[in-house]
Amino acid sequence: MEISEIKARLTLAQVLHYYHLKPDKQLRLCCPFHDDKTPSMQIYYKTHTAYCFSANCPTHGKSLDVIDFIMWMEQTSRGIAGNKEGCTKHEAILKAGQMITEQHSVGAARNQKPTTELPRIAVLTKIFTYFKNGVHNSKPAQEYLQQRGLDYNKTEVGYNSGQFHHGERKDAYLIESCVQYGLLLDLEAKSRTGNPAYKPFGKWCIVFALRNAQNQIVGLYFRSTLDDKHQRHFYLKDRQGLYPKYPSKETKRLILTESIIDAATLLEQEKIKDSYEILSLYGTNGLTEEHNKAITEITALEEIIFFLNGDQAGTKAVEKYAPMLKADYPNVIISNVQVPENEDVNSLLHGHSPDILTHLIETRKEYSFLFSTESVSQRNEEIELPQEAKPTGEPKEEAQTTGLDTNNPYNLKYRGNEANYQIKGFNTGQLDSLKITLQITAK
Ligand SMILES: [Zn+2]
Repeated sequence: MEISEIKARLTLAQVLHYYHLKPDKQLRLCCPFHDDKTPSMQIYYKTHTAYCFSANCPTHGKSLDVIDFIMWMEQTSRGIAGNKEGCTKHEAILKAGQMITEQHSVGAARNQKPTTELPRIAVLTKIFTYFKNGVHNSKPAQEYLQQRGLDYNKTEVGYNSGQFHHGERKDAYLIESCVQYGLLLDLEAKSRTGNPAYKPFGKWCIVFALRNAQNQIVGLYFRSTLDDKHQRHFYLKDRQGLYPKYPSKETKRLILTESIIDAATLLEQEKIKDSYEILSLYGTNGLTEEHNKAITEITALEEIIFFLNGDQAGTKAVEKYAPMLKADYPNVIISNVQVPENEDVNSLLHGHSPDILTHLIETRKEYSFLFSTESVSQRNEEIELPQEAKPTGEPKEEAQTTGLDTNNPYNLKYRGNEANYQIKGFNTGQLDSLKITLQITAK
């Protein structure tokens, strides 16, 4: 490649990205060619040149173009800065040509602002496509999925063999973005080839996509295929998105599962998929703000069905979340699938026909928020409840005038002078259950 062609096609920004050098806002850089504590090197994107102002620098007095820059970088990385034996100009030109051909999307990259990473959605979508192809090429991934009873022809799932930043896929912009979004961890060390070394996040995991309200991929969930009890579940940093997607607004019956694999398992059962919308929590503590927001958007909702694990954690999660949901959706039925002890959605598939899942869902029980009348009356003797706070099915008029609104016993509202208060999840017939949400909104 001619020097003029290289200069026309390779920007200084691309070269800096390639070497993982990030200028600051004033486009200054700690000079990579001498021991620089303060940023002495100025970057000029207009002319695609760099200049080091330090008198201690072997490049001092020289304006460096992209080829000079590469030459100095290669020499420095070999520990012999300024030594032509380290990297000649000719070698630098070859290296520059290589950088150009390695850029997958030179055109797209050049239109970007130099220091802007690719958008999260674009990067995750691209990488997830790569992971999906990975399943077709990986025996361990296929074996793991088969063992979990999942069919990768039905379920959108990927596999991370940890190779996505190698070989032809190497692209400075993509790698930088992968570091930014947590797909690659920068080890801040050089590999044998002199290039920076990275550790892929969630290696040897099967991967599921988490989506936003527009059904775009904004997060990834990794489930280890190795049998490590302590490290199974990994979410990308800045966790966001829901699995399999935001429920449609027309959803009538919504099943909440404890894990993404459980949700995927249910979704593979046509009968269940046709009759219910499925949404995965992020574990027993994982009914997040985003889940709440998505559920709020459902206009036709009639019932929320918990299908969590048949263990203590699963039971506790239902006890915690059922009243909270009831507080927000008093007209929605909250029900619970009776899961046999120590089983979960996915484990039930082993040794049973998939019909057991349908059967369990069909025989679900409505969640009971009330204690027996006896225990309620005993409590009322011990603690004198103000008249307004007693549970009642009838709307009370005075509640509106006093500022305390107990019409919904699961969501007590109080209008104060300075702020409005809502106590959610608290039922006056259930005084020993004090896991509540207190929402204070300033007026
Ligand atoms: Zn310097």
